Amino acid sequence: MQTELHPSIADTHSGRRAQEILRSCVHCGFCNATCPTYLATGDELDGPRGRIYLMKEMLEAGEANAVAQNHLDRCLTCRACETTCPSGVAYGELLEVGRSLAESAGSRGFVTDVIRRWLKAVVPDVRAFRRWATLGGWVRWLLPVRLRRQLPEVAELRPIVGSTHERKLLVLEGCVQQVATPTVNAALAERLGERGFQVLTAAGEACCGSLNLHLGDEGGARAQMRHNVDVLWPLLGELDAVLSTASGCGVTYKDYGRLLADDADYADKAAALSAKVLDVAEFCEREELQFDRAADVERVAWQAPCTLQHGQQVNGTVERLLERAGYALVDVADGHLCCGSAGTYSVLQPDLSERLRDAKLNALCANTPDVIATANVGCQTHLASASGIPVRHWVELLR
Ligand code: SF4
Ligand code: SF4
Repeated sequence: MQTELHPSIADTHSGRRAQEILRSCVHCGFCNATCPTYLATGDELDGPRGRIYLMKEMLEAGEANAVAQNHLDRCLTCRACETTCPSGVAYGELLEVGRSLAESAGSRGFVTDVIRRWLKAVVPDVRAFRRWATLGGWVRWLLPVRLRRQLPEVAELRPIVGSTHERKLLVLEGCVQQVATPTVNAALAERLGERGFQVLTAAGEACCGSLNLHLGDEGGARAQMRHNVDVLWPLLGELDAVLSTASGCGVTYKDYGRLLADDADYADKAAALSAKVLDVAEFCEREELQFDRAADVERVAWQAPCTLQHGQQVNGTVERLLERAGYALVDVADGHLCCGSAGTYSVLQPDLSERLRDAKLNALCANTPDVIATANVGCQTHLASASGIPVRHWVELLR
């Protein structure tokens, strides 16, 4: 694709990278076939090829308009298009640049602007999010149905089980997961403690930065990333691995090396941290760990989060671990399509999000599983908001 970026962008680090990515796209449109928003609306501008055109125009003009902003907002960042693309177009990276520039289109309307500011201020701050979620729980019956469904139950905090094994693992706590599903890391610590690992958490860990990044606040995201590098880098020498049980956080941590590559003070440390991060499934497979299944569950429908299958390209690993534990995995159609959770998407794009969630639940439940298993807190709470059967993190199914 021929491009001539605006002079204000052309010579920046992100401008040069955007130019490379734009030039790698050959407009074949194969990616549209697996794009959930294109399949839902049939609008070319809601597909990856159309969005790439919009971003090219924005980057050449040096600013965005409301149409481009709207179609970029409607992207799930699921990256199914990257998995499909035969030319290796790094759509997710391009979208980061496009989303930052899309902020130049100005207001999205008073209510949406307020919600976006609230999400950026509250969700990454665990204490603030817990307070708001608790408050929301008290007045749940007063809230509109949609908002009521989005509100996570505030789970009881459980300590990570202590042990003195020599091999140390750090498990990332995240922000939303600490409030909505802290039992996942507690279950992991028990299972790995029984197998000779000491599972630790790091005081001071902040949100991974993905929420701000998806909302076009690259500066805020990078500040959170630098903070986490400062907290975690001094611990790396003692650790076997840094584990993620929320694939949405894991995919971002694995990308810190790239995201901070132009920061001379942080580039090497960020790359070292990224190299140490593993999704918990990768770790269990690497260590050849064996688990048993729960006595009361047999048939499992596996929902692979986009951040695991497309973002981290971890495919088949959880399935193998569950099958080795004795579970029967039921067939699920269209497993490559997003469930509609996508971070803050379920709040900011509720119509599309609910359509995708309902289609995903139909596919997951078609072969009568006992439980739906997933690997990311956002997918888990989103699916659970409308599911007739339990939705669990797969780690909680291990015995
Ligand atoms: S992103 Fe890839 S699949 Fe999509 S139009 Fe461009 S080259 Fe084709
Ligand atoms: S990231 Fe997902 S929603 Fe966005 S263009 Fe790609 S396939 Fe479509």
